[in-house]
Amino acid sequence: MIARESTSFFNCEYDPIHKDVRTAFLSEQRTAAKRQDAIDSRRTFLCGCCKRPLKIVGGTENGKKCFHFMHIEVPPEGECDYYEKVPFSKEEIKAMLFHGRTESVQHRQTKGKISSALVSEPDIVNVAVEEVAKHIGKSWRKPDIRADFEDKTVVFEVQLSPIFHHVILERNDAYRDNGWYICWIFDDVNEDHPIMRELDAWVNNNYNLFGFDDEAKAATEKSGRLHLTVKYYVFNIIEDGLNSRLCGKWQTETVQFSDLTFDADHRLVYLHDSNSEKQECIERIECIISECKKEIEEAERLAQLEIERKKEEERKRLIEEQRIEEERQRIHQEKEDVINFIYKIPEYNFPSEMFRLTLEYLGQIDKEGIMILLSSIEANIKYFETDAINKWLKVVCEIVKQRGEGVQTAKYLWNEVIYKFEESGNKILHLSLKDFFSVMGIRDYSRALKLLMRPIDDDTSDWLSSISASDKDFEYYAPLIILNRYYRANRHIPERIANFFADNTREIWCLISAQIGKPFGYKDLQNLKQISNLVWNSYPHISQLFIYLIERNGLVHTISDVKYKNGKPQKSQYQKLKELIDSQKNQPLIEVTLEDLEIIFPAKRETKH
Ligand SMILES: [Zn+2]
Repeated sequence: MIARESTSFFNCEYDPIHKDVRTAFLSEQRTAAKRQDAIDSRRTFLCGCCKRPLKIVGGTENGKKCFHFMHIEVPPEGECDYYEKVPFSKEEIKAMLFHGRTESVQHRQTKGKISSALVSEPDIVNVAVEEVAKHIGKSWRKPDIRADFEDKTVVFEVQLSPIFHHVILERNDAYRDNGWYICWIFDDVNEDHPIMRELDAWVNNNYNLFGFDDEAKAATEKSGRLHLTVKYYVFNIIEDGLNSRLCGKWQTETVQFSDLTFDADHRLVYLHDSNSEKQECIERIECIISECKKEIEEAERLAQLEIERKKEEERKRLIEEQRIEEERQRIHQEKEDVINFIYKIPEYNFPSEMFRLTLEYLGQIDKEGIMILLSSIEANIKYFETDAINKWLKVVCEIVKQRGEGVQTAKYLWNEVIYKFEESGNKILHLSLKDFFSVMGIRDYSRALKLLMRPIDDDTSDWLSSISASDKDFEYYAPLIILNRYYRANRHIPERIANFFADNTREIWCLISAQIGKPFGYKDLQNLKQISNLVWNSYPHISQLFIYLIERNGLVHTISDVKYKNGKPQKSQYQKLKELIDSQKNQPLIEVTLEDLEIIFPAKRETKH
């Protein structure tokens, strides 16, 4: 007897699918291990010690039915450590004792009842009953009952006593090879646990087991037709992911013999096609398991992708961190450079790169640094090169705009720069009108306007656009607003136009041209008297601006001479406009709309704003 290391096999631990249908599985293996070709080719269970083929036999252990391995042949003395000489089981001894002796009364009665019922079956041709007891051996023997139907022959083996496994297999093969159907009949198949000989017949007959029990006998007697009780196995599935497996349960039905299925291909008689059912279940289990594996693989693949994504994210984060650190160091270094530079500004040149950095870090320099810078600029004003003084002016204008400090220094610089650039005939770089206004106020910009490389930049333009007609100094801005219109429409101001505006008197012509929708320098407007008359009559809302420009340009005399009509003095143009302005005092100036100026520089030509 081989018990060693075979427990896991008999518990089906290695094959989870069959765990829950262990009896069916082991019964199949028991049959498979018995096949002569398997034994001859040694493709069967072999002893771990002597390598001889093994068979599976049934026995009892602790009162429970169990299977175990056993050598098929007795190995010579001393050749196998595992071989233990055990006596035949009680069942085997009974089988050996019985064969060769007369059959029991019960056996004969059962045969009689079955055969007489068979006579009444439809299509029956002949029923033969063997009266002689059978012998063990491989020679051909007659069956207990042979029933010839018109289309088939069915033999019945009534097995009420123990029988060797190989006998069942041999007879199955012999009859089926002969084209007959075989039904093993047991007396009682309703027990909870079929005995071994029943299992052998069951597993080799599509998991259908026939019994001629009390129920079958009663049904047969009552109807006069042969009835059998069929105990069969219903296979099903326990769905449990990767652990999905077969399960099965016994079912018992008493049916009429002619209602059984006769499978001509395999010469099998059965009620329920358990084999096909089992096959379908196995295929479904394989499907479930393969789906599960796919899901697991997909989950693993996604998990791997996630890991890679996180790695990549971490890598990018480190790179970004490094970049930020380098940037921080660069900024720190640049700031240091700027501080070093402004603490000891050179008298002459101001390198472009340092100029850019100074403007960039100006906001981060502390008050002390700014004070030192301003005083060293003042101390050096007379010694700066033209380019350097231009750049320092821009720096100081930024200080004024950002902090309100350094207005005085900026004024010195503006005066110095305007003077120097007028002398040299060069243009002031980097600065705009807004830089001028922020230091010098809004008056007298015309001198700077002429010299500025870019009189209006985006900064200035935004600031001019924010001026409203009610602003106190609106009249100062009027020409500039016109210029700004031009800038916004064209994104630059030609020098000749800047020069045109830099000559104050032209403001007046410009203003009026705009009002009447004529281009600059409209020739018919030479006469200021005519113009003031036009303003008085048609454009009273710009009279205040007009008079301001007349006064600012010292042209009052041109419109203030008094005429006499019928000996009475008439009011001058100037007086009339002044009175008009007085009458308007309480009226806001909002009527001087910027839209009026669109006539010259239509806003629709703008590409930006
Ligand atoms: Zn052995």
